[in-house]
Amino acid sequence: MHFLTCPHCLKDDVPYGAKVCRGCYAQIEYGSPSFALALAIALPLFAAWHAGAYADHPLGTGLPVMAATGIPLLIISLYACKRLFAKRVIFRRRYR
Ligand SMILES: [Zn+2]
Repeated sequence: MHFLTCPHCLKDDVPYGAKVCRGCYAQIEYGSPSFALALAIALPLFAAWHAGAYADHPLGTGLPVMAATGIPLLIISLYACKRLFAKRVIFRRRYR
């Protein structure tokens, strides 16, 4: 079992995976921060939209190009985000 130390109350036996610190009730967050996830979704969509807009598709729509560009990019970027923040743990103190 892996334990975490709470930076607020210094409780050092908070089990990894716990949602709150049992010492001070700080909320514990794991993985990607929401702004990173938003970027990981927005950037591939933006790239796909551009690829679609510039694609000279015979049907007159860039939709297949957008899907072919966006879906793999989205998977890669979400995966990279997950890997990058895999070990991230944040204790968020709730002020009462
Ligand atoms: Zn604590």
